[in-house]
Amino acid sequence: MQTSFIGDVVLTTPLIARLAQDGEVDVVTTPPGATLLASHPAVARLFVYDKRRADRGIAGFLRSAREARGARRAFLCQGSARSGSLAFAAGCRERIGFTTSDGRWTYTERVEYRDDWHHARRLLSLGDLPLAAASSESTDAAIRPRLYPTDDDVRAVDQLLEHRKRPMIALAPGSAWQTKQWPGYGELAALFADRCDIAIAGGPGDLAAAGEIAQRVDREHVIDATGKLSLLGSAELIRRSLVLVSNDSSPQHLASAMGTPTVTIFGPTVPEFGFGPLAPGSRTVGNRSLDCRPCDRHGPRVCPLGHWRCMNEITHDEVAAVVQSVISEETVR
Ligand code: SF4
Repeated sequence: MQTSFIGDVVLTTPLIARLAQDGEVDVVTTPPGATLLASHPAVARLFVYDKRRADRGIAGFLRSAREARGARRAFLCQGSARSGSLAFAAGCRERIGFTTSDGRWTYTERVEYRDDWHHARRLLSLGDLPLAAASSESTDAAIRPRLYPTDDDVRAVDQLLEHRKRPMIALAPGSAWQTKQWPGYGELAALFADRCDIAIAGGPGDLAAAGEIAQRVDREHVIDATGKLSLLGSAELIRRSLVLVSNDSSPQHLASAMGTPTVTIFGPTVPEFGFGPLAPGSRTVGNRSLDCRPCDRHGPRVCPLGHWRCMNEITHDEVAAVVQSVISEETVR
């Protein structure tokens, strides 16, 4: 059961792949999560639990529990009491989740939540603690997520990139949390547009941010994909890019799944929370001199100190130098 954010769904794929070695894996997830996993070869069946809309309330809960009946074991990747109760109501006799989860009282088995591990590794530990413990975060394929864009996703990207010949850098300027959105993407794009096309990845909510980037670059060198591709289409677009530059948000996890090196810009959060990029060659950028950082697990709505120095002080030159070194390493590889 994984009904968290898109990035969490991506980071659950190593666990799903591991469990599929032992038997059929059904996944209960959100509507966006279902679009990501529909083509995943390790998923036997998908059950959509739209907990905030169509399945809100007790009727939706009971319908979802009825649908999901039949599984013997449930892995509670999202830790709410609602998820745990859903597994119980669906008749799962074994319910396995983290010691720190709100819903832990509904579990039959609790696994330590390792603060010092990447979240993909933590999730893997729910199904195979020895494998997770033996894995190395920087190199181990066992904790690398995987996604599988469909032929339609590939065709949509083919169309978007028709006649493009230059190498491409992908930028993902959005985040659900305002304070995690680095404001320097436009200047960064301008620095690379003489050699690379600039692809902008994101959903319909990122159109304004994409417009600001596009203003800084010749129109012919911008590929604005915001709102034009499915999630797996965005993953495919990122796969074809030299590098992705992203905030601490879901596109970096799409890149991890597609093997594209990522430069992730961390503001109020830090990679040590366990949500950094996993593709080989990836780097992170953050203002390590600030005592106030990190100030929130997800990123606050507004900077509680008012200055937002964790993002405002990260310059486009600093990020560009890191991006350039990633590109140089990729070219050598
Ligand atoms: S308090 Fe510090 S870490 Fe938090 S948003 Fe403000 S500048 Fe960033």
